Amino acid sequence: MSETNRKKIYEGKAKILYKGPKPSTIIQYYKDDATAFNNKKRSTIDGKGALNNRISAFLMEKINSLGITTHFIKRLNMREQLVHYVDIIPVEVVVRNFAAGSICKRLNIKEGENLPKSIVEYYYKSDELGDPLVAEDHIIAFGWANLQELDELHNLSLRINDFLLGIFSSVGIKLVDFKLEFGRLNSADCTEIVLADELSPDNFRLWDNKTNKKLDKDRFRLDLGNTIDAYREVAERLGIL
Ligand code: UDP
Repeated sequence: MSETNRKKIYEGKAKILYKGPKPSTIIQYYKDDATAFNNKKRSTIDGKGALNNRISAFLMEKINSLGITTHFIKRLNMREQLVHYVDIIPVEVVVRNFAAGSICKRLNIKEGENLPKSIVEYYYKSDELGDPLVAEDHIIAFGWANLQELDELHNLSLRINDFLLGIFSSVGIKLVDFKLEFGRLNSADCTEIVLADELSPDNFRLWDNKTNKKLDKDRFRLDLGNTIDAYREVAERLGIL
């Protein structure tokens, strides 16, 4: 299918989704656009889409090989991936190992503090409401996921955290926190919860182990400069480039 004939299904802040070659597949196109603070800050970061495509493909493949199913099938080119079509669960799962961002303000914790244990939080996916923090009971009561699915989101997120902590620590990077999205993958005889969306410095906080230099989207959020260099450094350290 040529790129011009593709049918756009959805355009988000950092990615566009097109119909894939089969009804059960989707093409995920990584844009250079960056947004923060619920769309109030916007810009373009040249080269970000290509780097996030590479980093996310690398990490999704590793997670697939762990036995955790993801929506990822393969990387198609510089900016695109072929992924399984999934019904996205409207809950963002955030895992935190060190304090940063919203938890610092909410609970008056100093940035960088090592949390006593990894903390899993849930946010309702709604641009209109600014993705509010929700409790497990909200998720069940409003039917965003059932109890068994919620249990799975929690367990999978912690397994993914353990795995990513190891990968990043081996290249001198502290995995401060990150956001995951999951979806339901329907096949003839079952429905499976799988990891979806992306795994990139857009959704992670990554700090250099020694200097605490930020190597993630906070460089853009906080106007620290050299955002693309930081993303490239993450890819280089992971041995992708
Ligand atoms: N995050 C994300 N998308 C969001 C909100 C958060 O990818 O819509 C990621 C963010 O990059 C960070 C983690 O989730 O790695 C925790 O974010 P936090 O709740 O601290 O919110 P923020 O400070 O980014 O508003």
